[in-house]
Amino acid sequence: MTIATPPDPYTALPAAPRTQVLIAGGGFAGLALAIALREALGPAFGIVVADPARDRPAPDARASAIAAASRRMLESLGAWGAVAPAAQDVLDMVITDSRLDDAVRPVLLTFAGEVAPGEPFAQLVENGVLLAALRARAEAVGLDLRAVAVTGYEAGPHGVTAQLSDGTTIAAALLVAADGMRSRLRDLAGIGTVGWEYGQSGIVTTVAHERDHHGRATEHFLPAGPFAILPLTGRRSSLVWVETTDEANRIVALPDDGFLAELETRFGLHLGALSLAGPRQAFPLGLTIARSLVTDRLALIGDAAHRVHPIAGQGLNLGLRDVAALAETIADAARLGLDIGAADVLERYQRWRRFDAMTMGLATDGLNRLFSNHSDVLRLVRDLGLGLVDRAPALKRLFVQEAAGVSGAVPRLMRGEAL
Ligand SMILES: Cc1cc2nc3c(=O)[nH]c(=O)nc-3n(C[C@H](O)[C@H](O)[C@H](O)COP(=O)(O)OP(=O)(O)OC[C@H]3O[C@@H](n4cnc5c(N)ncnc54)[C@H](O)[C@@H]3O)c2cc1C
Repeated sequence: MTIATPPDPYTALPAAPRTQVLIAGGGFAGLALAIALREALGPAFGIVVADPARDRPAPDARASAIAAASRRMLESLGAWGAVAPAAQDVLDMVITDSRLDDAVRPVLLTFAGEVAPGEPFAQLVENGVLLAALRARAEAVGLDLRAVAVTGYEAGPHGVTAQLSDGTTIAAALLVAADGMRSRLRDLAGIGTVGWEYGQSGIVTTVAHERDHHGRATEHFLPAGPFAILPLTGRRSSLVWVETTDEANRIVALPDDGFLAELETRFGLHLGALSLAGPRQAFPLGLTIARSLVTDRLALIGDAAHRVHPIAGQGLNLGLRDVAALAETIADAARLGLDIGAADVLERYQRWRRFDAMTMGLATDGLNRLFSNHSDVLRLVRDLGLGLVDRAPALKRLFVQEAAGVSGAVPRLMRGEAL
């Protein structure tokens, strides 16, 4: 005869399952960090990625300029192979500054060049392609990806306990907020932000054109904001077209022929006849910089840490630089047997990344203020400045290196090295 043991009231409520790193957000930054940690520390190091959009990513009409350093990192992570056939090299870049109704748009500045022989300083990739490649790679390396949101957390001396939207809890040594520009975790942690809305929105869409773009990216600085034509594979280009938010909403809601007519006025005729080749969306633009990148057992990466104006196409690249620096910091600490969520470990990450996030935020803000206006005086000043830069090859080389993300204290992954 067997006697049933009554349930123990303590073991009936098991402690929350424990992992090393819980990442809230499986977008570009969250997935890249998870893959980097898995590649560096192996399957014994527990990583959970929580994202309610895991099975239904939000539609994204954007394409991103991936800087050379970001591409090197995606290669090291094993995610670039699936992206490469859909990536368009940017071979040169042309900048103009004019009014909308000016008959000609004189070219003020041109950039061409490679960071290394055969390596373009940037490549254009549609966001859907990049996210799918990261997700496929995350699955291939066996990561635990859960279709849930992180809804709350408490930090204690030895780790965090986080609540998930399916009612479960999970304990981790470190919680990473990769949950985008409206980061709930940043708010829950009480980390304030500095920044402002620009009253501008970026209209994005894809167009097909009659002639080849030959890998040329063009940025027309118009009084309402930049109008960027970014080359995609084939005879297609991705547009980032900045207008005041009211005007952007009006334009996006136009029927196709009205939208195309507005577009042609800005695009010009240099690539022949245009046709619409993708959905359109408008993204409100603003500057949001977190006052701190870390707090007790929490680190912010990607847009959760900084949302910048897309005038220089750098937001995603900035987020991938966070990923490379945080992955290196965690891997170094874990290999030394240190507590990966300890304050001094997180402080190393913050020191590494804070300056870059702040300077990129201020640089894009300054550029936007300088160019998005109707002032003839400012136009004269900036055109003189651009003309001077155009005649200074050494300065241009410096800008190309900067845009490629290969200058400064570059983390190992961004140099194309393994962690
Ligand atoms: C018009 C425009 C053009 C741009 N062009 C470029 C460019 O050319 N080059 C460039 O480098 N950058 C560009 N950017 C910036 C770039 O798109 C962003 O920096 C990038 O998408 C941010 O990625 P992320 O992973 O940090 O955040 P996101 O992509 O926003 O991902 C956040 C994820 O978190 C999830 N999430 C939210 N809340 C929770 C929660 N509570 N728990 C768990 N998960 C949660 C979401 O579902 C989402 O999947 C552009 C931006 C705009 C607006």
